[in-house]
Amino acid sequence: MPSIFTKIINGDIPCYKIAEDADNFAFLDINPNAKGHTLCVPKKEVDKIMDLDEEAYMKLMSFSRRIGKAIEAAVACKRVGMSVIGLEVPHVHVHLIPLHSMKDATFQHKENLNSEEFETIAEKIRNYLK
Ligand code: AMP
Repeated sequence: MPSIFTKIINGDIPCYKIAEDADNFAFLDINPNAKGHTLCVPKKEVDKIMDLDEEAYMKLMSFSRRIGKAIEAAVACKRVGMSVIGLEVPHVHVHLIPLHSMKDATFQHKENLNSEEFETIAEKIRNYLK
């Protein structure tokens, strides 16, 4: 059965899309640690990041850097943090999280956004992508 992220990538489940290229797809996390929290996902469904082949791993990191720079420009924050967890969704994803303090990196505190706020921040990030 395809993962929830494969369903998003295929357009079977809606998302607040940020960008895609041939190999990777980025969208807002639906339960964000902070406004602008974004997930970067390889289109090829692999569970664990260490199981990606080196080329896929490097492409994911390069894609994530490009998205992270746009987030840094679009969202007021101290920096954009990156983490890989994967305990909830078994399809590799890089969390890009605008950090204001350590609590944004803990996955304990969540931000409640309505759909208009999600769309506004997604558009702002998209506008900074070159
Ligand atoms: P983890 O697998 O522990 O790295 O966490 C999975 C992340 O995916 C969580 O932060 C969820 O909020 C996020 N997530 C789960 N389902 C969706 C969805 N349909 N759209 C966007 N983000 C999601």
